Amino acid sequence: MTSPSEPPVDTTAPHVADAAAVRYRCTSCGNLTRFDVTTTRRTRAFHHYTVGGELEVEDLSVLAEELESVECRWCGPSGVVVEIDADAAAALDRSGSGASDPEG
Ligand SMILES: [Zn+2]
Repeated sequence: MTSPSEPPVDTTAPHVADAAAVRYRCTSCGNLTRFDVTTTRRTRAFHHYTVGGELEVEDLSVLAEELESVECRWCGPSGVVVEIDADAAAALDRSGSGASDPEG
């Protein structure tokens, strides 16, 4: 049924959660689009130099990523930012299309 030699996870291809799928919302001002996001990222990459010393970074893989803080661009540290999923973001985008924009 199962092969004991096969590892449960493929360690040669580390996979981290797709950062693009995460959306944020500032509950203080309703901002959905502007955030200062601080992350610590540990990466491994193939640095490919030409004979002339020009660097080309290839095969970049993220080994670990830690989200340190998310601040609303408008409210700063005083803003209360919550994480929302893609479905909630889509609903907000639709309902908020006619609302006033803090950008003016
Ligand atoms: Zn805000």
